[in-house]
Amino acid sequence: MDARALTEQVLKRCELLSHCTDVPGQVHRVFLSSATRAAHRYLTEWMKDAGLEVRVDAIGNVRGLKRSPNPNARTFIVASHIDSVPNGGKYDGTLGVLMGIALSHLFKPEDLQHHLEIVAFSEEEGVRFQQPFLGSSTLAGSFQAEWLKKKDAEHQTLSETLFRWGLDQNRIPIEAYEPRELLGYFEIHIEQGPVLAEKGLPVGVVSGIVGQSRLNLTFLGKAGHAGTTPMPMRLDALTGAAEFISCVENHALGTPGLVATVGKVEVKPNTSNVIPEQVQLSLDVRHLSDEKRLSAVQELLHEAHMITQKRHIGLQHELPLDQKAVICEDRHMELLLDACKFCGLPEFTLPSGAGHDAMVMAQVTDVSMLFVRSPNAISHHPDETVQFEDVEAALKVSGHFLNQILR
Ligand SMILES: [Zn+2]
Repeated sequence: MDARALTEQVLKRCELLSHCTDVPGQVHRVFLSSATRAAHRYLTEWMKDAGLEVRVDAIGNVRGLKRSPNPNARTFIVASHIDSVPNGGKYDGTLGVLMGIALSHLFKPEDLQHHLEIVAFSEEEGVRFQQPFLGSSTLAGSFQAEWLKKKDAEHQTLSETLFRWGLDQNRIPIEAYEPRELLGYFEIHIEQGPVLAEKGLPVGVVSGIVGQSRLNLTFLGKAGHAGTTPMPMRLDALTGAAEFISCVENHALGTPGLVATVGKVEVKPNTSNVIPEQVQLSLDVRHLSDEKRLSAVQELLHEAHMITQKRHIGLQHELPLDQKAVICEDRHMELLLDACKFCGLPEFTLPSGAGHDAMVMAQVTDVSMLFVRSPNAISHHPDETVQFEDVEAALKVSGHFLNQILR
């Protein structure tokens, strides 16, 4: 393969797609917006040019298929998403889609033991309807009919949005794959984190997508005058919460692979001369091992109880999200690591701390992922970038990997 030429093509197309935007001067492309229509025109043209049969499915995914002549062929999917966060970057999602299209150029139908399908998922970020993974949930058969009633900021339902686009919501269940029809799912994505840059590596093989617990904790103290209440007589909810936040950091620092974040704090009454009565905070805990994540959550809740007991303040908690980790398939991971070695690159694995469509597709098939280095670890931001040599390396590794899987 002419990896340089394909890299040039991919990067040029990332640039072109970045101009399909709802907000001029920014990369801002939400699900089924007019910018998406423009992106679909490009994708359709590029997929056809790669010899793929192209169609837009019932949830607005653009799907390009290269059929194998083998009567027992299953389908191997290479995909990522084409929606963006508001004022996002040029490469999140789109890089994986455009690399998939570039890689499909390498295979003639008669080369293929299995069908190759390149998918540009219409929706992953959850921006428009506050419901992420609409595209991949449709293929995985986990799309929930009640989501059709969800409304966007203009009070238009998902159902109405699909209708206005000319899509038939009744066909959504038909788009779902049966596990037996699939050979696997592969996604190339920018890392969106600092690990590969820190290690000086262009690419890394993803070992899995971490599970996530999201909790809300409320510390309940007693309001009082900041001048007249002596220190020993206070029931300060915020100092209790602060002690807990330090404890979260220490716990995660002492547990390999664990990340834990308090990202949101609400103080009541939030006034400079009143002792805080109530503090609500969020706690996000992630680990590739569900067992380690769940035990960390239990230990942190225990710590919170100890702190509040000692301080004679109250504690409430709820757990709105408990999402299991997804482990990438062993054999596909091995093939990706072999491909790295074949290309003269170190065989390096890392977990994904962020959710991806691969996580949803794991409900129906074996998944694997390759991360491309994110310089400066910046993502979901206009400064998001990739390096030419890294994309070239990722194309070589992925090309070798697909050769092993499909030929
Ligand atoms: Zn993404």
